[in-house]
Amino acid sequence: MVTTEVFENLKNLQAILVQKYELEAKVESAPKQLNNQEEALAKTQKEFIEKKAVYDETTTAVSSLKEELQIAISQREEYEKGIADSTTHRDYETLEKKISEVKDKEAELRHDLQKKEKELDELKTRLAEDEELIKFQESELNTSKDSLNSEISGYTKKINELKTKENKIAPKLDQEILFKFERIIQRNTEGIVAVRNGVCMGCHMILPANFANEVREGEDINFCPYCSRILYYEEVSEDQQEDYFDMGVAGSLAGLDEDFEDEDSEEREDEDEEIKSEFDDEDEIDDEDSEDAEDEDDEDSDDEDDDNEDEE
Ligand SMILES: [Zn+2]
Repeated sequence: MVTTEVFENLKNLQAILVQKYELEAKVESAPKQLNNQEEALAKTQKEFIEKKAVYDETTTAVSSLKEELQIAISQREEYEKGIADSTTHRDYETLEKKISEVKDKEAELRHDLQKKEKELDELKTRLAEDEELIKFQESELNTSKDSLNSEISGYTKKINELKTKENKIAPKLDQEILFKFERIIQRNTEGIVAVRNGVCMGCHMILPANFANEVREGEDINFCPYCSRILYYEEVSEDQQEDYFDMGVAGSLAGLDEDFEDEDSEEREDEDEEIKSEFDDEDEIDDEDSEDAEDEDDEDSDDEDDDNEDEE
């Protein structure tokens, strides 16, 4: 069967691609792991800035209260000096009244100042706490970034190993089949599935009998008309066949069909349509296949010789 080797290559490639796509998805989503930590840090930084603004305002308020207090004290001292120098009873009484007023103001200012200084102290403590928290969150974030980077470089290393394996198989395949195959795997994990008893094991649809026969003959690469997966024929032994029918093909098929329709059918059907239309003309693909294959043989012959030497 001419297609046997192609099927083997596709199956091997599938195992590689599934892993590769999984790892690539992990690399892509990895930075999201830092979202929570980054948000927490940004929140603390914002709060710090807001508190710092209040702190600065309070500092200004404290210094102007101190100035006002100083003025009041000087004034009181001046009045007190005036009282000592006063010659008339009236002067004495006026000054005494002024002293009493300025003393009240002084007391009020001292009270306000004390209150503001206490606020300032509290703000200072809270700012210091925030600063500590920011430092802590920054260092935690950096630790996470480091471990994320080593996680990602681990994935990248594995991806590169898989790519090396992929590059040994992929050039042996027809490039259009390969492209289609990769797209199916990206969506459905399985790009090549068996046909058993005329049923596609990918979508569990019963295939038209003459089409199932073509698959059985294995002369060409055939794609499931329902799910677009590449099909290969798998003989079912009599025992298995009995089991298969005992389980109730009709029942299981009905169930599976429903699953197929319910789960991801709409999107998948659309995409399948897309793929089918891209590769509508099977004959054309086949023609190109043979041409490509010839071209590749010419181009790749040197590489393959190198590979062979390596392996030996
Ligand atoms: Zn199918």
